[in-house]
Amino acid sequence: MLPYHTIREARLALGRNLTFAETLWFNYSANKSDYLLYCHNIIFLFVIFSLAPLPLVFLEVKRLLCFDKYKIQPKVRLSLDEMLKCYKDVMRMFFLVVGPLQLVSYPSVKMIGIRTGLPLPSGWEILSQLTVYFMIEDYTNYWIHRLLHCEWGYENIHRVHHEYTAPIGFAAPYAHWAEVLILGIPSFLGPAMVPGHMITLWLWIALRQMEALDTHSGYDFPWNPTKYIPFYGGSDHHDYHHYVGRQSQSNFASVFTYCDYIYGTDKGYRYQKKILRKLKEELTNGVKQNGGSYSQDHKSD
Ligand SMILES: [Zn+2]
Ligand SMILES: [Zn+2]
Repeated sequence: MLPYHTIREARLALGRNLTFAETLWFNYSANKSDYLLYCHNIIFLFVIFSLAPLPLVFLEVKRLLCFDKYKIQPKVRLSLDEMLKCYKDVMRMFFLVVGPLQLVSYPSVKMIGIRTGLPLPSGWEILSQLTVYFMIEDYTNYWIHRLLHCEWGYENIHRVHHEYTAPIGFAAPYAHWAEVLILGIPSFLGPAMVPGHMITLWLWIALRQMEALDTHSGYDFPWNPTKYIPFYGGSDHHDYHHYVGRQSQSNFASVFTYCDYIYGTDKGYRYQKKILRKLKEELTNGVKQNGGSYSQDHKSD
């Protein structure tokens, strides 16, 4: 809740006029408690998770040929019932674990100093904080994920997330309840180390979830705007981790590729890419040669 009753009071406190965004924020948040503003995250998580994967569910069911070539594991197909089951399983976890966790974690958010007042952070401040959050999350998640691949961790916890060897968007948060709790730590660590505004926290929770849905989408579209983010792993990178499954000692990172490169855990992935590239080249050359001889034969007729 803002400590000003009117825009005039806010203007006097800031010593300047409010920007358009600040006026919007004032009108929206002035009479809402900080707790209620924080709980908006539950709605964002629910809405994004329920709506964002729908276009790919449609593609998976319709099997449109023009999009099929972008499916990373084209031989694996899930029915609508199987995808709905995955959605329901995650929603159960959402209501039993994620939602209650959000409701009770407010004191820690207050303690680390997430603010809701004015002035609003600048675009650069938001962007730089989000970049730091992603990097901290990526690094911490890498090591926790790698630890979860030890025999005990995999058998008792992480095995659930690997039930989908060819992931779909709905399977991104599909995991054992303990994993959902443990992986909350890397997400919380960034805002705890570099606390910002509530809007930055909203954006962080929303973008992190969209990134997870993207990397589990099962499709690798060349026009995906994330291709322009340096060192971004994307769906192809994480799909390989699910494809290899239990034995996977490759591609542990959740967002970027550099941790796997630095610690040498992307060798299998890079080897597979090299082989596939070679096969593709040979295939293209073979087709060209056959095409050439056909032309020659055709001319001599
Ligand atoms: Zn794993
Ligand atoms: Zn995964």
